[in-house]
Amino acid sequence: MEYVLNEDNACIVKEIIQAIHNNSVYLSEIDGETGDGDHGVNMNKGFLMADVRIKEDDSFSEALKKLGKTLVMDIGGSMGPIYGTFFSKLSRTLRTEEKIDAKLFEEALKNAEEGLMNLAGAKPGDKTLVDTIVPAYESFKEAQEASKGFKECLEALKIGAEQGKESTRDMVAKLGRASRLGERSKGHLDAGATSCCIILQIMADGMIKRMVE
Ligand SMILES: [Mg+2]
Repeated sequence: MEYVLNEDNACIVKEIIQAIHNNSVYLSEIDGETGDGDHGVNMNKGFLMADVRIKEDDSFSEALKKLGKTLVMDIGGSMGPIYGTFFSKLSRTLRTEEKIDAKLFEEALKNAEEGLMNLAGAKPGDKTLVDTIVPAYESFKEAQEASKGFKECLEALKIGAEQGKESTRDMVAKLGRASRLGERSKGHLDAGATSCCIILQIMADGMIKRMVE
């Protein structure tokens, strides 16, 4: 049975932070096509603040908790609380566990997805990060229910996230600043859907790298 140890795996969260940092200009550029162009800057600020608080020898769930708390408490706008809740819920499901397997991670993703969706107030098709998280979770769940190994489930998650992100290109924004553009929001990726895809893919890669078989 494949699993990822909770202990000493703060590095996975550190890799997510690094990826947001590396993509901050790109994320702001995408946001600027339909919005105010601050998405990458805001995300980078919050994630770097959390980075200072996360110790190398923290567990995976402890690092997720610190990241979630920092985003909720210290980052303004809508994204801080939304992503903060996502990471906090992930952490809460995993925190008492020594080993994280596909079934447990499916449960953690489900709780995190529900928390995020409640707060975002968006449904699939609204051109938000929900359009990334829902297909990513569904792909993972489908693979998990088909008794695929944890690595394969994470690969499925990555594909679902990518397809979900790409699907926002043809959508008309229903919420937020971009919705003011109406039909003209078509042809652009949603910035939140894009950052969500980066987060999920880097998290999946990080877990695949630390998989115990
Ligand atoms: Mg913005």
